Amino acid sequence: MPVRSDGKTHWVDEVLHENGGLVISYRADRIVFEESTGQQHLVIYDNQTFGRMMALDGATQVTEKDEFVYHEMMTHVPVLAHGNVKRLLIIGGGDGGILREAVRHKGIEKITMVEIDPAVTNLAKEHLPMISAGAFDDPRLDLVFADGAEFVRTSPEQYDVIIVDSTDPVGPGVVLFEEAFYRNAKARLTEGGILVTQNGVPFLQSTELSSTMAKFKRLFRYAHCYVATIPTYVGGFMALGWGTDDEFLNAVTVETLTHRYREAGLKTRYYTPAVHKAAFALPAFIEEIVAKAAD
Ligand code: SAM
Repeated sequence: MPVRSDGKTHWVDEVLHENGGLVISYRADRIVFEESTGQQHLVIYDNQTFGRMMALDGATQVTEKDEFVYHEMMTHVPVLAHGNVKRLLIIGGGDGGILREAVRHKGIEKITMVEIDPAVTNLAKEHLPMISAGAFDDPRLDLVFADGAEFVRTSPEQYDVIIVDSTDPVGPGVVLFEEAFYRNAKARLTEGGILVTQNGVPFLQSTELSSTMAKFKRLFRYAHCYVATIPTYVGGFMALGWGTDDEFLNAVTVETLTHRYREAGLKTRYYTPAVHKAAFALPAFIEEIVAKAAD
């Protein structure tokens, strides 16, 4: 069980890296909600440092204090690199953080979000309203409760950018790391479209990145990743997968990104056009994982 009590103090244990000998304990000053949704074990609680937090199956999903890093980098990097996104697909992302950043781009005409677990969205709306900040009411949103892998297999729709805001490859998230999913997602992209994925922290989860990169190399002309540091995704840089047939998209200049950023009227706390560019410069050990990825 992820929640344990030592006398009168509650602790939530993140067991994602338990096999590597690492369990991270967060003090829960208040357990706001805990239940098995039928799909996943969900805990929402308050921690002194990170504010309100949500964990699924023993892995931290989102925290009030550091969520901006992940959500800004997952959203603004592909949207501003592309420069003309009209249709966006979010797979997963039940808490609404990616959606919140996406709706800030007024040029986007339609946002489809496919989340497998309605309980995550409903509970996040109720107990973590600051994450979606009203974005679920945006008229451009089409919210679908379904398996994202099944959706991209059967949908006839096309999207300029697809953001896969998945859990790690456990439980319902496993299918979102399979080649069939990436292939079907690619088929849903318009020409020059971009697929972005969360691929864990390479220092602790190198196979999560290498396995996705091996599959991306078979599917896309340009398979790469970029990085961001998110305090609760411990172990240093997190890798965000980048698959596209347009190899020039990550060569967009800082000047162009700055122009698009200003045009969009964005105000961000982690993302800047310079950080965007720098995020594609990989530390050598991560570059090696990408370069050697094959299965
Ligand atoms: N930022 C987070 C992280 O990696 O820690 C991810 C947050 S978001 C809450 C992940 C969401 O993916 C969850 O709400 C989960 O229900 C959803 N999910 C998992 N498997 C899915 C699938 N097959 N199709 C659609 N959504 C899925």
